[in-house]
Amino acid sequence: MGKKIYKSINKNYENSCDGFVCKVCGKFVKQLNNGGKQRNHCPYCLTSIHVDNNKGDRQSSCKGIMEPISVWVKRNGEWAIIHRCKTCGKLSANRIAFDDNSLKLISLAMKPISSIPFPIERIIE
Ligand SMILES: [Zn+2]
Ligand SMILES: [Zn+2]
Repeated sequence: MGKKIYKSINKNYENSCDGFVCKVCGKFVKQLNNGGKQRNHCPYCLTSIHVDNNKGDRQSSCKGIMEPISVWVKRNGEWAIIHRCKTCGKLSANRIAFDDNSLKLISLAMKPISSIPFPIERIIE
C-alpha cells in the first residue's frame, strides 16, 4: 500500500501541483501556497532537482540532483541558495522560502569559513 501512495505522490511531483517527495531526504514537501510561486527546493535538506533549462520552464531532461553549495546574499539582503547539478554541473540561484531549514541555511553559509584552505594565522598577520 505504501508503494502505491509513493507512486501517486511522484506523479504529483511531475505536475508540481500539491507537492512532491524529496528524492534525497524522502520527506513529503507541500507546495507553497502564495501567489503561484513554485517551490524549487526541499525545505528540509535544501536539495533541488534539475528540471529547468530557463527559470520555471520545466524543459530540462537532466533531472539530476541539485546540491545546495552556497548562499548568495542579494543587494536587498535577501538570501538565495546556489544549487549545482550533480549530473551536468549547471549552477542556479533560488530564493529561499519562509519554511526552509534555517540551521541548514546557516551551515551552508558557514561552510567556506569552517574549511579555510590556508593557515588562519595568515589573516591575522
Ligand atoms: Zn529533502
Ligand atoms: Zn543537470
